Amino acid sequence: MIVAIDGPAGSGKGTVTKEIAKRMGLINLDTGATYRCVALASIRNKIGLEEEDKIVSMIDDLKIEFKYDENDFIRVFLNDEEVTNEIRSFEVNKIVSPISSIIPVRLKMVDLQRKMAEGKDVIMEGRDIGTYVFPNADVKIYLDADIEERAKRRFKENKEKGLDVTFEKVLENIKKRDENDKKKKIGALKVAEDAVIVDSTKLTISEMADEVEKIILEKTGEK
Ligand code: C5P
Repeated sequence: MIVAIDGPAGSGKGTVTKEIAKRMGLINLDTGATYRCVALASIRNKIGLEEEDKIVSMIDDLKIEFKYDENDFIRVFLNDEEVTNEIRSFEVNKIVSPISSIIPVRLKMVDLQRKMAEGKDVIMEGRDIGTYVFPNADVKIYLDADIEERAKRRFKENKEKGLDVTFEKVLENIKKRDENDKKKKIGALKVAEDAVIVDSTKLTISEMADEVEKIILEKTGEK
């Protein structure tokens, strides 16, 4: 079974996906993390955004893996080194959307994402899961929220992590990523025709998860 959760940054995808994976025994696949690994590797190898060929050829040397700890929390490994926290840095946030717009990067990551899901029951979060990666997904949900609310959530997360970034910077980064994500040639952020839209602006985490669980049960005919 494939459950696709798409939506913009800060819409609650990550939180909901984690919770639903736990409740329903699904494997949680965070596709954004694959693009984040490429962004981190580019920074570490000092490859600029304009050096697309170098970025693309670097990918063949990258081993991206997800491992799950005892709480089913995804730990992300890049060439056998854990980078779970590092891929969420502000530096990575700034370049991940343009990096994920490079078509050969997308094609390689989509390949990897499809392989990661092979033969498994998964809940997969991203931007293009229901439209491009798995257009035949059993359930498609598009999670959205007002931009101010999304920026507030990311700002709070950053503060909790001790990162020194202003609300305005976070808002600006989210706006830029939204714009860029919507105009991608392949895998642009958009609502799949058969997706159910959930607006999480005023929902608590558990209300969001209840709503998503209800949709999954209805769509899979279990309720
Ligand atoms: O979901 P997350 O914020 O971690 O994703 C980071 C970036 O990766 C997004 O802003 C988007 O540009 C890109 N992405 C994508 N397709 C996906 C998942 C993420 O282009 N399926």
